[in-house]
Amino acid sequence: MNETAARVYAEIDLDAVRANVRALRERAPRSALMAVVKADAYGHGAVACAKAAQEAGASWLGTATPEEALALRAAGLEGPVLCWLWTPGGPWREAVEAGIDVSVSALWALEEVREAARAAGMTARIQLKADTGLGRNGCQPADWEALVTAAVAAQSEGTVRVTGVWSHFACADEPGHPSVPLQLTAFRDMLAYAEKEGVEPEVRHIANSPATLTLPESHFDLVRCGIAVYGVSPAPELGTPAQLGLRPAMALKASVALVKSVPPGHGVSYGHHYVTERETSLALIPAGYADGVPRHASGRGPVLVGGRIHTVAGRVAMDQFVVDLDGDEARVGDEAVLFGDAERGEPTAEDWAQAAHTIAYEIVTRIGGRVPRVYL
Ligand code: PLP
Repeated sequence: MNETAARVYAEIDLDAVRANVRALRERAPRSALMAVVKADAYGHGAVACAKAAQEAGASWLGTATPEEALALRAAGLEGPVLCWLWTPGGPWREAVEAGIDVSVSALWALEEVREAARAAGMTARIQLKADTGLGRNGCQPADWEALVTAAVAAQSEGTVRVTGVWSHFACADEPGHPSVPLQLTAFRDMLAYAEKEGVEPEVRHIANSPATLTLPESHFDLVRCGIAVYGVSPAPELGTPAQLGLRPAMALKASVALVKSVPPGHGVSYGHHYVTERETSLALIPAGYADGVPRHASGRGPVLVGGRIHTVAGRVAMDQFVVDLDGDEARVGDEAVLFGDAERGEPTAEDWAQAAHTIAYEIVTRIGGRVPRVYL
């Protein structure tokens, strides 16, 4: 694609993905690294990013849904893959046949995976997920004994092999949060119980990106990194990507579609929430909330155009928004950078998150399907 002709596009720097994986492996030198590539690699493109991550030494891939994991296999990606979000009747048999590790949080899931393994004539690889305090997916401590007992029985009959015991943090991105040591203790206890009952996991894991970056005691055999692989800071309190040794992999760029002078007192965009104070030039940026530009950032989102960072004037619409050039010059076809790398003087996904009162995860992940990804 000729990106200079593109209305809006997301440039994906796979070298940055590789560099981030290497940097994360240095943070957790005794653990394997799982690149979490769910949700199309947080908007960056699952297959391309999974390949880049593997090249840089990620030995595991992680997805939410089994369909995402199967798509990786269909694209020819080998090596261990774990998927963790199941509903009854999911493609268990296909996952077992594709050698995908499936997460099991409850007895119903264990039953379904056993049936799938029998149908496939294979042993299913399962990882038992403990709810150590997140209160979301995972097995409660009170139900753990029953799940472990049933899994050990299924292992003896040969339908499953328990390859992992794992959990997920609620507040690892809030340094010093009291739930973190509590979850670690609960994880160690639940793991010890499973091992006492005969489970011999290949991998024990609980750390996401913030825990990988800040909590060495949480690294165990494997760290599961998503957002940091893409060079985005998990939380402002943890520092900027550069401070964390990461490079943003996505830059969202658009071509200025129209530049025009307007008189003072001219309302801009729906609702006229912005009104020009003096005669000025407006630049039309052809990207809107259908492309993932958050409407909540109306009047606040930063854009590098005309040589300076300006803010969105008025509301972000479905397909376009406006910037008041405020004395700067821009021409039709000029590049506008919504976010990229602060090290290049560009606004960042973290800036947009702040402007939209959300997290940077959501900014990159919601970049719309109609925005082409251009791989560097
Ligand atoms: N593990 C699980 C179970 C997840 O749901 C996620 C993402 O939400 C991750 C790991 C990766 O988290 P992060 O992107 O903070 O590294």
